Amino acid sequence: MPDKPKVAFYWCASCGGCEEAVVDLAEDILKVVEAVDIVLWPVAMDFKKADIAARPDKSVAVAFINGAIRTSEQEEWVHMLRRKAQVVVSFGACANSGGIPALANQFKKEDILKFVYEDCPGIDNPQKIRPQTSTVDEGRTLTLPVLHNMVRSLDQVIEVDYYLPGCPPTPKIIMSAVQAILAGKLPARGTVLSPDIALCEECKRKDSKPADLALAEFKRPHQVQIDPEKCLLAQGLVCMGPATRSGCEALCPSGNMPCTGCFGPTSRVKDQGAKFVSSVFSNIVPKEEKDIDAVLDGIPDPIGTFYRYGLSKCILRRKLN
Ligand code: SF4
Ligand code: SF4
Repeated sequence: MPDKPKVAFYWCASCGGCEEAVVDLAEDILKVVEAVDIVLWPVAMDFKKADIAARPDKSVAVAFINGAIRTSEQEEWVHMLRRKAQVVVSFGACANSGGIPALANQFKKEDILKFVYEDCPGIDNPQKIRPQTSTVDEGRTLTLPVLHNMVRSLDQVIEVDYYLPGCPPTPKIIMSAVQAILAGKLPARGTVLSPDIALCEECKRKDSKPADLALAEFKRPHQVQIDPEKCLLAQGLVCMGPATRSGCEALCPSGNMPCTGCFGPTSRVKDQGAKFVSSVFSNIVPKEEKDIDAVLDGIPDPIGTFYRYGLSKCILRRKLN
């Protein structure tokens, strides 16, 4: 019997939700386990770095890597997985565009460390001790990974072959990707494995989205009794659907919540946040600056709203010293 293809799963700066998404395949995970030989999955199995390092280059058929890259350890791992794997799939919003971890690019590394280890309410650290990358204890040297200055997407560190979008990717798109990989029916390298159309196209509320939105104010979901049928943008809620790629079957609008943009942009959009701002803000009704400011006050965290999952890919990138 021929060897089954070897598959690796790895996680970098992420919340673990992408690992949960694999478990969420439910009984389909048995089909995956039957079809492949898992050689790395730190969340579920006890493989060591040395096990992967000892494998010949290109001996792993596919490496699914989730999470953004913030530390020297993550960078080291993904370079090794790139060498060992024939195909690297960037798995989920954090790997694809920085995700939630990339929101840290709004702050300097020193400010983050100072807040976390000194100023954070509830911290009790009068000696202002911080983790060191190298510490000698009883003659032994202990090391910790270096925290880099910025959070990068996976493809800003290594070459990526395919992208699975979502926070996390849905079981449906994970299974279609796995099936395409196993059948050798993959599209062109660099493809995002999800339909290249805007989310509004698959949203059941799309027929109630007016051509002229005429936005007089923005509201947050807890401030309004949401009409379950009507387009959420038309109700003054910031729904990222027009600037977001489809493929999730409009899960959030179907559940009465605006899309927050986790599937990233379509291939025609360079900057998801800028696309949303340019397409939607031209529909703001007031024309005087102070009145426009009053409307924009309804969005208290613009970066966290328009770049919630994509600050690593934003054309502005990061805050400099
Ligand atoms: S803006 Fe949001 S609610 Fe409206 S059609 Fe698009 S995805 Fe649906
Ligand atoms: S509706 Fe938007 S935020 Fe919700 S799963 Fe789909 S792409 Fe992600």
